[in-house]
Amino acid sequence: MNFEGFDFFENDENLKQRIESLYSQNRQPHAIVIEGAVEQRCEKLATFLTMRAVCRAENKPCGKCEQCIKAREQAHRFLEPLNSEEKQTLYTLLMKLTTRGSEN
Ligand SMILES: [Zn+2]
Repeated sequence: MNFEGFDFFENDENLKQRIESLYSQNRQPHAIVIEGAVEQRCEKLATFLTMRAVCRAENKPCGKCEQCIKAREQAHRFLEPLNSEEKQTLYTLLMKLTTRGSEN
């Protein structure tokens, strides 16, 4: 995993380790829920993970290849950002799932 050049990871070894563990044994998670108090930091992490998903370099994300650049600019053909209504629907669904999980 390449964290170089992504300043939001500075001084946060815990976040780096958590991200590394998601991709351990060459696996890629199907979905990742990002929660945080600082929206801009969450968006940067989402962009990093998106670049990681589409990058074709060996040390992902390289931040330099065409795939990374398109992901950073939200112009990748595989990516479609959610509008505010879709975000609210997703958030509501996640809250229901979280509530159900805590009932058991
Ligand atoms: Zn790349």
